[in-house]
Amino acid sequence: MTEKEPDSVAGDWSTEDAAEHYRVASWSDGFFHVNESGHMAVRPLEDQSLSIDIMDVVADLRQRGVKFPALLRFQDVLRARVRRLNHAFADAIKEAGYQSEYRSVYPIKVNQMHEVVEEVLDAGKPFGLGLECGSKTELIATLAHLVDDSTLLICNGVKDRSMLSLVLSSQLLGKNVIPVMEKYAEFEELISLADAADTATQFGIRVRLRTAGAGKWADSGGYQSKFGISLPELLQIVDTLKANQAEHRLTLLHFHLGSQISQIKQLKQAAKELAQIYAELINAGLPVRYIDVGGGLGVNYTGAFEEGGIQYSLQEYANAVVSAIKDVCDSRKVPHPVLISESGRAMTAHHSVLIVETLGAFRKDNAENELTVPTDAHRIVHNLNELLSWLRDPQAQDSGVAELIEAYHGVVEIHQEAATMFAMGFLPLQQNALIERMYWSSCSALLAKLRAADPDPVPRELLELQDLLVDQYLMDFSVFQSVLDHWAIQQPFPIVPLHRLDERPTRRALLVDLTCDSDGKITQYVSAKEDKKFLELHPLKPREPYCLGIFLMGAYQDIMGDAHNLFGRVSEAHVYGDASEEGNFWIEKLIPGTKVQDMLAQVQYFPNDLQRRMQDQIKEKIATGVIRPKRGMEILDQYTACFNDETYLINHRTAGLEEG
Ligand SMILES: *Cc1c(COP(=O)(O)O)cnc(C)c1O
Repeated sequence: MTEKEPDSVAGDWSTEDAAEHYRVASWSDGFFHVNESGHMAVRPLEDQSLSIDIMDVVADLRQRGVKFPALLRFQDVLRARVRRLNHAFADAIKEAGYQSEYRSVYPIKVNQMHEVVEEVLDAGKPFGLGLECGSKTELIATLAHLVDDSTLLICNGVKDRSMLSLVLSSQLLGKNVIPVMEKYAEFEELISLADAADTATQFGIRVRLRTAGAGKWADSGGYQSKFGISLPELLQIVDTLKANQAEHRLTLLHFHLGSQISQIKQLKQAAKELAQIYAELINAGLPVRYIDVGGGLGVNYTGAFEEGGIQYSLQEYANAVVSAIKDVCDSRKVPHPVLISESGRAMTAHHSVLIVETLGAFRKDNAENELTVPTDAHRIVHNLNELLSWLRDPQAQDSGVAELIEAYHGVVEIHQEAATMFAMGFLPLQQNALIERMYWSSCSALLAKLRAADPDPVPRELLELQDLLVDQYLMDFSVFQSVLDHWAIQQPFPIVPLHRLDERPTRRALLVDLTCDSDGKITQYVSAKEDKKFLELHPLKPREPYCLGIFLMGAYQDIMGDAHNLFGRVSEAHVYGDASEEGNFWIEKLIPGTKVQDMLAQVQYFPNDLQRRMQDQIKEKIATGVIRPKRGMEILDQYTACFNDETYLINHRTAGLEEG
C-alpha cells in the first residue's frame, strides 16, 4: 500500500484530517488532541473540559528564555495514569468478587526523576501505592520516600551484603520492605545476616517460571532468563525454612515477563503457573501473602494493531491478572493473595512530550524548469535532459505504467553511469552536478506520474522512489540523548507538528539529529501500516519556527539517554493544568539543560585547565605578532563564554523570539 499523496494545494484539509492523519486518537489515551487553532493540545485532567494549547506553553517558555529542545512534563497526566491503573484493578476485583486487594508499586528505573517519583507517590496515596527498586542507588533513593510504614518497597535485582543488611535495618525500623531473592545464594546470605542481627525478616522470591513472555523482552522470563530462582531451588528454600520454623519469612512470590507484554494469554499462563506454586506453598503451611506479577503492562505507541503490538486495554490486563489468580485459588481452595503489579511504563509514558525545533529542511528536487544544457556537454547529460523534458512535457500525459517504469530504469542507469565516468575523470564536476539535479527532478516527476496512475499491484519502483525522495528535516536534538529506544530497538514514537495542523502537510520528511552519527535519525514513524519511513510535514516558512512534539516520552527515554557527541540533558518544564490561569496552565518548575562545562567535566575536561591552555596558545600568537593583544583576549573571552552555553544549538530561526 502507498500512502495517499498529500496534495499540494492547501484548502480541503481540516484539523480533523490532521488528527486522523497523525493517528492522535489511537495513541493519546484521550490526553492529546488537535484544537481549533490547528495546534496540538493536552487535556491533562479527568475533567475533559480543560485544554492546554502546547504552543502556548512553548511561547511561555520562550519568553522565559528556556532553550529548546525541552521536555514538558504534564504532571496531571502522570497522576491520571496512576489513578487509571488503580481504578482498573479495583474494578476488576469488584467484578470478579476477588477477596483481597491490589497494590501498585512504581518501579523507579522507568523514570527516577525525583519530581516524577514524588508525583506518582502523591497520586497513589489513596490507593496505597508503593515503590520498587532494582539497584543499590535506587534502594537508597526509595527508602527515604516511603509514605508510611505500610507503604511497600519491593527490592529487586542482585543484592550484595550491604544492601541486604540495609534492608534488614529498615525492616527493624518497621518499614514494609520486601527483598526479592533473585539467586539462591542471596537467600542464604539474607538468612545468615538476619539471624546474626536477630531480625524476623520477610522476603520474596522471583520464580523462574516455565512460561516465557512474548515480544522484545521475552527473555526476562522463562528458562533462559538471567533472573530468578528455579523450582528445585525454591523447594530447597521451603525445606530450609520449615527446618528452622521460619515459614512466616517468605511473604511474596514474584515473576516479571519483561516489558511490553504483547500477549495477554502469556500473562494469564504465567499468573496461573505462579498461583499454583502459591497454592502449594499455602497448603504446605507457608503463609505467603502477596503475588507480584511484575511489570510489562504495555503501551501502544503506534496505535496500530500489528503482530507483536499491544492489543489489550488497561482494563483487560487487570481483568486477566485478577481472574487468572482467582481461578487457581478458588479451585485449590486457598485464600486470595494481595496482588501487586510493578507497572512502570504504563504509568509514566504518556506524561511527557519532547519539543524539538527544526533547524532547516533539505529538498532533493531542485532542477529549475528551464534547464540549459551546454551543447558541448557529455552525451549522457543530454540523454538525461531528454528524459526529463519528456517527463515534464504536459503533451506527453497519460504515459502507461510500463513506460514510466522503463523511463525510471533509464534514469537510474544514467545516474550510475555518470558516477562511474566522474570517478574515471571523464565527466567534469559542473556536469556531474547538473546530472544530480536532473536526476532528482526526474525522480520526482516520475513519482508524481506513477502515483497519478495508481497502479495495482504497486510496483517496487514506486516504493523505492517514495523512500528516495523524502526531504531531510534537521532537528535540534540528539536521538541518543532523548529518544534512545528508537536507536536501540527501533521503537516508533508518535511525532506530530505542534502547529499548522489546519494546513495540509505537503512534504515527506526524514528527521535527522545533530549528532555526527549516521544512526542519529528517526527512520520509523507511527502508521497504520507496519513500516513507515517518513513523516508528512509542512514546508518551512522563512523566520518562522517549526516545532514538533515527540510524544509518549515519559518511560525509560530520559534516563537511558547517553552523552553521544556530548549533547546533554534537555531543558525541562513541569506543567500543571488550572482553569483559573491564563492559557489554563502554570509552570511549577524549570530545569535548565546541561551546560557545556558540565558535559566536559564528565569526561575530565575542566574550565580552568582548558582556559589556561587556550590562553597559552593565544599569548604565543600575540608574541609572534599573529594577532593584536586586544583581539586575542576577545577570542579568549569568546571561548570561555561558551562554557555556560547549553549543549544544543541556538536556533537562529527562532533566536530573538523571546524578546519579541
Ligand atoms: C523493568 C521492570 C519493571 C517495569 O516494567 P514495565 O514494562 O515498565 O512495566 C517491573 N519489574 C521488574 C522486575 C523490572 O525489571
